[in-house]
Amino acid sequence: MISRIDLRGSAGDPRELLPRAETDVSAALDQVRPICEDVRERGTEALLELTERFDGVRLSGIRVPRAELDSALAALDPAVRAALEESIERARRVHADQRRADTTTRVVPGGTVTERWVPVDRVGLYVPGGRAAYPSSVVMNVVPAQEAGVASLAVTSPPQAEFGGLPHPTILAACALLGVDEVYAVGGAQAVAMFAYGAGRCERADMVTGPGNIWVASAKRLLKGVIGIDAEAGPTEIAVLADETADPAYVAADLVSQAEHDVLAASVLVTPSTELAGKVEAELSARVAATRHRDRVADALGGRQSGIVLVDDLDHGLAVVDAYAAEHLEILTADASARAAAVRNAGAVFVGPYSPVSLGDYCAGSNHVLPTGGSAVHTAGLSVQTFLRGVHVVEYDRDALAAVAPHVAALAEAEDLPAHGEAVAARFGGGQEGAQ
Ligand code: NAD
Repeated sequence: MISRIDLRGSAGDPRELLPRAETDVSAALDQVRPICEDVRERGTEALLELTERFDGVRLSGIRVPRAELDSALAALDPAVRAALEESIERARRVHADQRRADTTTRVVPGGTVTERWVPVDRVGLYVPGGRAAYPSSVVMNVVPAQEAGVASLAVTSPPQAEFGGLPHPTILAACALLGVDEVYAVGGAQAVAMFAYGAGRCERADMVTGPGNIWVASAKRLLKGVIGIDAEAGPTEIAVLADETADPAYVAADLVSQAEHDVLAASVLVTPSTELAGKVEAELSARVAATRHRDRVADALGGRQSGIVLVDDLDHGLAVVDAYAAEHLEILTADASARAAAVRNAGAVFVGPYSPVSLGDYCAGSNHVLPTGGSAVHTAGLSVQTFLRGVHVVEYDRDALAAVAPHVAALAEAEDLPAHGEAVAARFGGGQEGAQ
């Protein structure tokens, strides 16, 4: 079912040899372009038609009435409500600590640069809802945006035929719990275009964030620039770095847990222990047969994006997981904390046997909207910082400017931009080149 990849003794670049999904976002761009163009040109009419085509639902309007949010919250299972409240409270604690303070640097006497952290004015938050509904993604999007101080927040999620064309009721209830009342029943690329261009009652947003499938990720890539985006958070990934001390049942359970997201989800075990590899394979067979979404899980584990990777030792394993740059990386080794401290590339790291990825998906306090497809080498997951811009405020007095004026003039001359130097000189009675 899950393949083995033997990298023992291999000196090649692990990135060439590691399993990775062929979720070619760039190939989907051609399909997504006309969808986005249509929304730009025809607004709500296009959204209604595209929703009928891709979600099989004919809506009369895209905005979810406020009363639907209230009744979803009233009908919410108390256990789910308690869990969401716990998830929100833990996420708030972590994200509140992320808020950077403004800094003022006195560069020279009389010359300061202040970095002021200003929230984005309006953001659109995408909550996926195709194969599974993700109320937890409401929490993970909304909490950091709120903690950043974003004034205008809108959530969108695909409509569900079985819920009368509304997004999943638990998603609506989560919005109500978080005090978000602008919610749309739109999914896929068209939802990203809705936020980028505005449509009907939905005003254009400055930024769109949130995970989604290949159509969502492609639309974000296509419209980047028209609208700000976070990372491309596509089909989920788990990598587990484990040695012979790891419990194979834990490893197998965690690999299955992420495989149930999507047939394109990636589950990768990296280990120097052939004994552990064998035991995990046996555990997987038993678990996959017994799990509710066994077909999806079997497809994900059997896909080219998943595998058990054999390495020479844990140092080699660490190099391999760093090269892979997983969205989620679990460290299940005897010296887990020390190994984790050496990791450079991962969306989030889960250390030791009692920190499974599922904890991070819901209730660790960390964010679960994380970079996938190897983009963790350059990008972080969603955080308060995603929604803030650092604006430099420059304030020099006369003496401070006079002191540095010759340097400005020299650099302006070196760049053949004399008017730059003249703008400084003008403040000290200096003339203009060519002026009489
Ligand atoms: P989704 O909401 O991302 O996508 C559903 C939408 O896709 C539908 O509304 C529809 O409009 C559109 N669509 C479907 N088929 C289409 C087609 N042929 N052409 C154009 N558009 C089409 O929901 P999903 O499909 O369940 O995917 C959710 C993804 O988000 C999963 O891959 C999951 O792993 C991922 N996820 C990632 C993270 C993360 O942080 N990286 C977190 C949660 C979920």
